[in-house]
Amino acid sequence: MINVEWGKLPFGYFKTDYNVRCYFRNGEWGKLEVSSSEYISIHMAATALHYGQEAFEGLKVFRGRDGKIRIFRWQENAKRLQNSARGILMAEVPDEVFKEAVWTVVKLNEKFVPPYGTGASLYIRPLLAGTGPQVGVKPASEYLFMVFVGPVGPYFKEGFKPVKVQIARDFDRAAPLGTGVFKVGGNYAASLRAGERAHAEGYSAALFLDAREKKYIDEAGPANFFGIKNNTYVTPKSVSILPSITNMSLRQLAIDLGLTVEERPIPVEELESFEEVGACGTAAVISPICAIDDRDNNQIYTYCKDGNAGPISTKLYQKLQAIQFGDEPDIHGWVEVIE
Ligand SMILES: *Cc1c(COP(=O)(O)O)cnc(C)c1O
Repeated sequence: MINVEWGKLPFGYFKTDYNVRCYFRNGEWGKLEVSSSEYISIHMAATALHYGQEAFEGLKVFRGRDGKIRIFRWQENAKRLQNSARGILMAEVPDEVFKEAVWTVVKLNEKFVPPYGTGASLYIRPLLAGTGPQVGVKPASEYLFMVFVGPVGPYFKEGFKPVKVQIARDFDRAAPLGTGVFKVGGNYAASLRAGERAHAEGYSAALFLDAREKKYIDEAGPANFFGIKNNTYVTPKSVSILPSITNMSLRQLAIDLGLTVEERPIPVEELESFEEVGACGTAAVISPICAIDDRDNNQIYTYCKDGNAGPISTKLYQKLQAIQFGDEPDIHGWVEVIE
C-alpha cells in the first residue's frame, strides 16, 4: 500500500504505475500491451483529434472489509462502449478484450486501490480513439483502446451534501438525433460553456433541457437526473441522454425499496412537485440537489430545506455503496471479485 491521504483525494487524475493499450489494425485487435508511460504517440492526422472519433467509459473498483477488490457492473460499461463505437463508426472492443484490459490494469496497480473504510475507490478510465490518419471526413482504419486507473476520494468530503444546479436554456448538450446517447467526447465539448458558467455563478453543474422543445429535463452535463415524489422514482426518458449505469442500478434499488419507477419525460414545471431530486453517475453515485435555479426564467426550485439530502436519496445512496463495497449481499449479481 502506498502512503496517500485517501479520504482527501479529489476526483481527478492521479499517476499510477501502469496502463494498458491494445491496437486495432488491419481489421483486428492485437495483443494487450502494458505501458508505464503516461503518454501516447499519435498520428497528427488521427481522426480522434480532427473529427472527434473517440469515446470513453468510467467505472470503479472497491476494496471491501475482507480486502477483496470488487468491480461494479463492468459488462454494462463494455456494452455501452460497444454502442458508442457503433454510434460514431469505430471498431468495437469485444467483451474479452475489455475484461482482460481492466483486470490487468487493476492488478498491476493494486497498491493504488484505496483501503476499505476511507470511502475512496479506484476509478477506471477506458478510452477508445480513432488513431489512423484521415484528412477527408471518414472513419479511421486504426484504433487505440487503452485503460488507465487512478484512486479517487469519496465525492463528498463532508459527507453526503446537497448541491445547487442551474438550468441552461441557452445551450444544448446534445440533439435528439445526435450523439447524446453515446459516451463521446464531443458531447462534453458541447457542454463545457454551460458547465463553466454554472461553476462561475456558484452552481455545481448545468442542467440541460431537451433541445427540440426546451420543455423537458434532459440531464446534467456528466450525470443523469431523477426526482422522487409519492413514493415514486422518476427519471427522464429522452433520446438525447446517456444511459447511466448508476441510474439503471438505482431504478432497481428503488423497486427493491418498494418504490414505483417511472421513466418518462419530465416537464420543467414538474420540478415544483418533487420531494427530492438528484443527479447520478459513477463519480458520486448520487449528488443530492437542494436547489435548481431556472436561470433565464428567474425561478428557483428548492428541496431539502434543512440542508440535508432527503431520506429516499440517502437510502438509495447507502444501499448502492453497501453493495459496491461488499457490505451487503449482491442479490442482483452486480459485482465481481478481481482475483
Ligand atoms: C457517464 C455519464 C453519465 C453517468 O453514467 P454512469 O454509467 O452512471 O457513470 C451520465 N451522463 C453522461 C452525459 C455521462 O457521460
